[in-house]
Amino acid sequence: MKKTILCLLILLFSSSAFSWGFWAHRRINEMAVFTLPPEMLGLYKKHQAYLTEHAVDPDKRRYAVEGEEFRHYIDIDHWGDKPFESVPRFWGDVLVQYNEIYAVNAQGDSLLLGGGADLVNRDGLWWLKGKDVPGVFGQDSVRLDYARFQQMALALYSPYNTDMQWELPLDSAAILWPGIAQKAAIQSFFVLDKFTGYGILPFHLPREMNRLTAAFRNLDLERIIKISADLGHYVGDAHVPLHTTENYNGQLTGQRGIHGFWESRIPELYGDQYDYFIGRAYYLENVKAEIWQAIYESHMALDSVLSFEKELNKTFPEDKKYSYESRNNVVVRTYSRPYSFEYNKRLDGQIERRMRTAIKRLGAFWYTAWKDAGSPDLSELMDQKLQFDKEEYKQKLKIKDREASGFGMNMLKMNKHYCCMPGGDREVSGFGFRVSGSSSLAQGDELQKPEIAKRNKVFLLLIPCLIFVTQIFAAYRTTNPIILSDSVKRFSDRS
Ligand SMILES: [Zn+2]
Repeated sequence: MKKTILCLLILLFSSSAFSWGFWAHRRINEMAVFTLPPEMLGLYKKHQAYLTEHAVDPDKRRYAVEGEEFRHYIDIDHWGDKPFESVPRFWGDVLVQYNEIYAVNAQGDSLLLGGGADLVNRDGLWWLKGKDVPGVFGQDSVRLDYARFQQMALALYSPYNTDMQWELPLDSAAILWPGIAQKAAIQSFFVLDKFTGYGILPFHLPREMNRLTAAFRNLDLERIIKISADLGHYVGDAHVPLHTTENYNGQLTGQRGIHGFWESRIPELYGDQYDYFIGRAYYLENVKAEIWQAIYESHMALDSVLSFEKELNKTFPEDKKYSYESRNNVVVRTYSRPYSFEYNKRLDGQIERRMRTAIKRLGAFWYTAWKDAGSPDLSELMDQKLQFDKEEYKQKLKIKDREASGFGMNMLKMNKHYCCMPGGDREVSGFGFRVSGSSSLAQGDELQKPEIAKRNKVFLLLIPCLIFVTQIFAAYRTTNPIILSDSVKRFSDRS
């Protein structure tokens, strides 16, 4: 009971951070089907409902699959003033240049040998210059065999290893620095991954493309459709400006809640008016370059996303910024329609443009994977049915729910809508956005019915009282409203 009341209170005191059905993700997958050539269109049209419904599966997997969360974004602005020039495109280079290498001595002390800023490229040769290098090597810097170390890193470390740490075996280190372990009484070496925590979206997308190409080659219907749906999700995420920044929810600029505002509230209000006539899918000569181009465009749009809202917030009456709306029997505080209208006007079609580009690129990715597989004849798959294991799917939802409650989130089912308890520093997605926990469950998903839901009707009677309390509370609040998405503190969560 306490939890239910608290949950209702949270909803009432919150600005909207809910994604109401992952609207934009689904629309992108749905519309991308129409860009395909006749050889692909029949199959994708037949499974369009699946592709649409499962556009949000990657968000659902976030608690069940290790490392999943890092695939949805890249905080590119974390990587310096000119990150698009400095961040390598090849994952092996990232592994070398953004890791830190440590040696552990006989006393158990971890000694920094270098990596990141301490890894120096001088005349084409790479040097470790960490503060503890002199103590270990007896000299100011030591050469790192870049190619060899890269080979080791690629072989020994998976970016989905959420420990963010991997051991460099003594015999491998002995290849890099012969005799050093014995000479300096080093017990072990380990490497810290300093990159993955800031997101690996552009490095993950090519893997999905490879998987899709393989599925086409094998004419494996289930994998073709499943991976196509997933790919659509990641492509969608790559087109959201707030998926390219550390300030992903405006938390660094006093604009908490803007993530959901941009990618969920606005598309849901105006998305049906967008023009989805996109044209034909085209072949991509360079998939990686196209992915980075998407990230670059998104990041270039970020300034408008933030600055227009900031300006609007200064001039708009504070008491008209939010309103209460009923969503599937749940009252939520959300950005008001007049405020949304003004923001959307200032954005001047930006969200529509990003969605259109996402749809166009997704069609191109699907088409390119099929072409690269040798343009197989898909007509023989037309009679096959999808045989996804329903039990396995239910199991995944259970795992996710258990994980979610471990982070302090408890689901409350109100007819077909879920709300959550605070405290879970999780991601929710509409257009792939990071806010709080609940929307990792889409509307209508079947979950074990919480006992608490039986009492919903009684508690709903409390809503008018709670609204009254809310209004008194709101009178005292002028800035930085509590938003469900506030509970996201990725770094404490990741570390
Ligand atoms: Zn996502």
